[in-house]
Amino acid sequence: MEKIVSLAKRRGFVFQSSEIYGGLNGCYDYGPLGVELLNNIKEQWWRSMTLREDIEGIDASILMHPRVWEASGHVEHFTDPMVDCKQCRARFRNDELPESGACPNCGGKDTFTEARKFNLMFRTFVGPVEDSSATVYLRPETAQGIYVNFFNVQSAARQKVPFGIAQIGKAFRNEINTKNFLFRTREFEQMEMQFFVKPGDDDEWFEYWKEQRIQWFIDLGMSPDLLRYNEHGPGELAHYAKKAFDIQFLFPFGWGEIEGIHNRTDYDLQQHEKFSGKAMKYYDQEANEKYIPYVIETSAGASRSFMAFLVSAFAEEQLEKEKRTVMRFHPRIAPINAAVFPLVNRDGMPEKARAIATDLQKRYRVFYDDKGAVGRRYRRQDEAGTPFCITIDSQTLEDQSVTIRDRDSMEQVRVADAQIAAYLSDNLGI
Ligand code: ATP
Repeated sequence: MEKIVSLAKRRGFVFQSSEIYGGLNGCYDYGPLGVELLNNIKEQWWRSMTLREDIEGIDASILMHPRVWEASGHVEHFTDPMVDCKQCRARFRNDELPESGACPNCGGKDTFTEARKFNLMFRTFVGPVEDSSATVYLRPETAQGIYVNFFNVQSAARQKVPFGIAQIGKAFRNEINTKNFLFRTREFEQMEMQFFVKPGDDDEWFEYWKEQRIQWFIDLGMSPDLLRYNEHGPGELAHYAKKAFDIQFLFPFGWGEIEGIHNRTDYDLQQHEKFSGKAMKYYDQEANEKYIPYVIETSAGASRSFMAFLVSAFAEEQLEKEKRTVMRFHPRIAPINAAVFPLVNRDGMPEKARAIATDLQKRYRVFYDDKGAVGRRYRRQDEAGTPFCITIDSQTLEDQSVTIRDRDSMEQVRVADAQIAAYLSDNLGI
């Protein structure tokens, strides 16, 4: 984990938020490589959802009417039990304390206060008066923005149940303990899709989405050995859920949830009907009946998935003369698509390399590098996870061919310069 965190900082994937002021706990900034990787993950997710005819996209606002969170149950239930150590004043989630009962910080025995409920929603105020009538919340999940727009989307897009609504956006939780780098932060991004189905069809759709979602991670290069399902037992189910499976990833600190697939029944729409007074019943023309649809939710953390992709891509290899660190990102999510190098800085090679890079940049994210030995340049791109390095050498000037080196096999092929774009398109899959 330490190696990954240090590489993430050194190569500009992730920085601590407000680092020059000592950082802000549970908040991170994405650097030049990180933001590309994160955008690519989100783009792949968005395409996998919205290129289907039965899913529409939406982008709801972060601040919502405060009654939304009463209806959803968050004001009442979205709490963690919090305890303080009376000896060292450290604060913990009661359900995460070790069985020994000793304080994980100072080792004190039986030094904890009684558990108190702590609501994880961030509160703020709209307008200049800071009183309870002006209280609003930073959304702790993106799902509610979808539910309250169910009929807007359904009628505007002329959809029929079953159909889904997808959204990517920031969510905020005032977590008691932030830990494990991007795993548990206070500000994070979610990629959520709510699929509305006829009651009775929900079990089948649940199974369908469970399969689809784990396959998405595998298709983007995650090893199936690092993924598993974890079913919520009866005691663990959220108040609204009929069934819930997490997709877990094997992080260096152990298995952790990266996505939840939940059968939320008709709970949320029912609640919004109750609290808003607006009917939430859908008229099913085919069946000629009215019902409140059931919801199958797929809720992935974009930031947590980002971290899982970092971990699963990270590899260290012993080569003949040196060790290399390589980020084996799937080509579709790699932050840089290709690098272009002149072998040496003379004989017209830089000019030719520049021309090739400029041409490819019309379509791809291409990094131009003419500094230092070519072996060092390869190592730098390996660390960034760049799938292909294109080198212009003396032969290029004779027959217009370049070498393309594959990041993983490190093998090189010679390709005519007119064919580079086609080669990248075939091999990047974008
Ligand atoms: P946990 O039990 O780990 O707190 P949760 O069960 O509350 O998570 P959900 O409410 O199901 O999580 O949220 C869906 C997804 O959002 C999670 O699978 C995770 O990827 C992401 N997520 C939730 N909380 C955080 C957080 N504090 N930091 C980063 N990602 C988060």
